[in-house]
Amino acid sequence: MSQTPLSQKINSLQTSATLAMAAKARELKAEGIDIIGLSLGEPDFNTPDFIKNAAIQAINENYNSYTPVDGYAELKEAIQLKFKRDNHLNYDLSQICVSTGAKQSLYNVASAMLDPGDEVILPCPYWVSYSDIVGLCDGVPVEVKTNIEQDFKMTPEQLREAITPKTKMLWYSSPCNPSGSVYTKEELRALADVLQEFPHIIVVSDEIYEHINFGSGHFSMAEFEDMYDRTVVVNGVSKAFAMTGWRIGYIGAPTYIAKACTKLQGQVTSGANCIAQRAVITALEAPVEKIKFMIDEFANRRKLIIDLLNQLEGFECNEPKGAFYIFPNVSAWFGKTVKGKTIKNATDFSMLLLEEAHVATVTGEAFGNPDCIRISYAASEAQIKEAIKRIGEVLM
Ligand code: PMP
Ligand code: GLU
Repeated sequence: MSQTPLSQKINSLQTSATLAMAAKARELKAEGIDIIGLSLGEPDFNTPDFIKNAAIQAINENYNSYTPVDGYAELKEAIQLKFKRDNHLNYDLSQICVSTGAKQSLYNVASAMLDPGDEVILPCPYWVSYSDIVGLCDGVPVEVKTNIEQDFKMTPEQLREAITPKTKMLWYSSPCNPSGSVYTKEELRALADVLQEFPHIIVVSDEIYEHINFGSGHFSMAEFEDMYDRTVVVNGVSKAFAMTGWRIGYIGAPTYIAKACTKLQGQVTSGANCIAQRAVITALEAPVEKIKFMIDEFANRRKLIIDLLNQLEGFECNEPKGAFYIFPNVSAWFGKTVKGKTIKNATDFSMLLLEEAHVATVTGEAFGNPDCIRISYAASEAQIKEAIKRIGEVLM
């Protein structure tokens, strides 16, 4: 049957590599193959009971109508308090917009800010969807390569070099997906000093892994007085609260940007899900101690996976300071043949691990770094041990 051509936009959009790998792993599992999934960045915990109970209560209280486009006032107040409590940031309610996941928050900002040809600086490795979201909104992603020696963090010199008259925004995540790196206050200050010379550039600081931090402390670019008016803080509940499927994210931003995002989603999705929003009020109002058991567990797993990977040949690792990923450089394997398969790049390596070790990871190419693979350790210790054992057996 002949098909009417799809738009050029959709044809040039890539399928999300993280979701594609997760789907492939699911497919193989359905065929009866025992796949260990270390590809998706998704906590393996259930949403805590106190949050689930708030959702059940909301259903029983008949929260079933359309919600305000930018979120319930009570939720925005909870977000306002969270920003004050955790980040020393004061936002008026007009500066907050609640969305259907941080992914929509990011898309909203890109769509609200970008005209064709506007450049967005993305320090590599960056989260897989950044470049496609920017491209979808007619922007041009400008990749700034970093390496393991610099702990995958962009230097002020690199930032300066990447800025052109067309630069509109800088996007990064800290803690970083996929490297786990965390920018310190001093490092952010050095980047902010460069940005002082370019006052029109907006910073998008994706802080969705804020609470999954192993002791280095969290600092937001918006906390600098001179950056507050030009920083969009993106956050959400998917990761720290084990609520990936509930789909709630939010921004704290200059009012004009928050309003633009609200206008956009008012035409595209309307306000986010009513029950999920009520549950998130409870999640955000709770003391952070309530979710600490998950962070402690991620810390144990981080130690385990670093120890195990260090015993394997050809895996050069940084020490992730946050999130639940490790991003080893595996380029020592490029050019070698294993199980009759020649490994040319990280994609080949990741496929080898899937097909021969039955362990799902994600190629670094999806994150703008072709020398590495991303391993998510949001999995049980038993799964992590078995996965690394299998990888060792295939490679040795
Ligand atoms: N930013 C980063 C860095 C992420 O890893 C994710 C994971 N999905 C998101 C944003 C989007 O999160 P959400 O589930 O809230 O859409
Ligand atoms: N952020 C997660 C990841 O990087 C979830 C997948 C996605 O939303 O793309 O694996």
